[in-house]
This record gives sequence, C-alpha cells and structure tokens, in this order.
Amino acid sequence: MTALVPPELVFACGAEPFDVNNVIPESKRYPKSKLCAWTAIWSEMLVNKEIEIDSLIVVAGGDCHNALVDGQKVQRSGIPTHFFFYPFDGNPEYLESQLESLSGFLGGVRYPGKFREISKLKKLGKKIDEKRCNGRISPADAFRILISFSDLCGDLNKLETAISSVREQKIELNNRIALIGVPPIYSDIHEVAQELGLQVVFDELPFEFIRHSGNDIHSTARDYCGYTFARPLDFRFGFLKKELEKRKVDGVIHYTQFACHHMLEDEILRDELDCPVLTIQGDMPGKTPEQVKLRLEAFGEMIGRQP
Ligand code: SF4
Repeated sequence: MTALVPPELVFACGAEPFDVNNVIPESKRYPKSKLCAWTAIWSEMLVNKEIEIDSLIVVAGGDCHNALVDGQKVQRSGIPTHFFFYPFDGNPEYLESQLESLSGFLGGVRYPGKFREISKLKKLGKKIDEKRCNGRISPADAFRILISFSDLCGDLNKLETAISSVREQKIELNNRIALIGVPPIYSDIHEVAQELGLQVVFDELPFEFIRHSGNDIHSTARDYCGYTFARPLDFRFGFLKKELEKRKVDGVIHYTQFACHHMLEDEILRDELDCPVLTIQGDMPGKTPEQVKLRLEAFGEMIGRQP
C-alpha cells in the first residue's frame, strides 16, 4: 500500500498489508528519476523487486498525485495494481463502493472478525497516544508505534507485542509540539527534537491511522470518510485546531516534502493556526540534517520566550 488504505479490510480479505513507505527513512537509495523521494524510492524498489509484494494498492485519489504516476510505473513492471480513491466530499456511498472494489481485487472478505480485532488494537494505539501526551511515553516511542498502524506491522500479534513492550517513563513536557503534515523523511526527528527541548505531543498523520476503524465494509466506509488528508483543507484544519487546543500545543512544526503538493498548504495553515509555526522541508531520507537541527533549536528558544 502506498498510503492509508483501511488495513482492516486487507486483513479481512486474508492478505497481509505492507506500507511501502516504512522502508524509506532508512533507505540509502538515490532514485534515478524523482520528484518526491518517498514515491520515487518505493517505485524504483518495487520495479527492481527489492520489496517483495504480490500486488500493490495505490492511493491515487485524495492523497498523493505523485503516487498515481509512480504507481503506474510499478503496474507497467507487471505487478497487479489496484487504484484506490477517497472521496473529496466525504461521500460514504462512494467510499463504500471503493472498499467493495478493493475487496474484489483482494478476493473478497474471508475473515470478518479481523475488523473487530483491529478496532481493539486501535484502542491500545489511542492509549499510547494519550500517554505520550501526558508525558508518560517518549515521543519517539509513541511515533514508532503509531506509524505502524498504517499496516499494523502486517501481523496483529507483532504489533500487540510492540505496544506492550513500550516502556513508561517520566518525560518533561516543556515545549509541547504538534508535528503537522506528511511524516518527516528523517528517521530520528522525534529524538532530535526532544534533545533540543521540543516534545512532540501530536503527530498529525499517524493519529489518522489510529482514529478510524469499522466493524464491516459499511461502517468502515462511514468512519474513514473523516480521513482528514483526503478532505478539503477547511475540514482538515477545523479538526486540527480542536486537536491542538485539546493537547495544549505551544508550537507547530509543519513538515513538508520537496516536490509534494502539501507544501502549498503552508501559507493557509499559518493563517489558520494561532500559534508559532516552524516550516521545514526535507528531500532525501536519512538522519536529521544539521541545518534543520539549528532551526529546531532556534524555534525552541523562541517558543521558550513566549509569555
Ligand atoms: S510526501 Fe507528498 S508527494 Fe510524497 S508521497 Fe507523501 S503526499 Fe505524496
């Protein structure tokens, strides 16, 4: 899967979901042809059969247009590929028809009990998120778990074990930060931010991964209609503002990715949000670069001086 596709349905069809983005932050590859490094790297790895999959689900509508093209490159290499579209207007019937069509691509629902099993796991994910917000789990540990909810590690037992192995600790929350936008391509940004006195108490996209669920295709369609990244900006920012207020956020880091259309949202986001915003832009995967560290440090000092 190239982005969020209800993993409940993939499991219920007896398949094993794998979010191809999960290999990118640790990747050393420099793709031959690229706009966004995320899609360019997974596309090249899939075409070269460096990631083993049987078929690909491309989230082509309501999320990422680079994936639409890079996904077709993979399709042309012979891998069976399905294109999944979210409705911009949140129409539940449309999303239900998309889920039915995806179910057909995957051979139909064979294990309907998976929906409820995954709902329970998502409740555990919400607890992790809540504990991190209360300074009982480190932001990096929480992120590692929450990001895994896009594909549930392809193995529900493995994810449950990962959740139960998270160590509780006392984290000093001096600057409560929301990390907004697509997930950073830097593998250590939560640790780096924490070392610089910025504690991430909200990860926008991973929160979407744990927030939606359903007990069957019908209810899953109705819940996933609220997936903010696929909806108009007013819908997404309206949701964001409530979440930031609830979490008493002191500042926002808006992560943008080179050649990603979400960059265009920065100006509107700054108009909408009533708190300090730092925009950073990444390109290639790896550790957080020194210049980004300097900007994070300066942001921390600036927030620290807020009355
Ligand atoms: S960063 Fe932007 S362009 Fe790249 S995969 Fe994500 S949504 Fe698509």
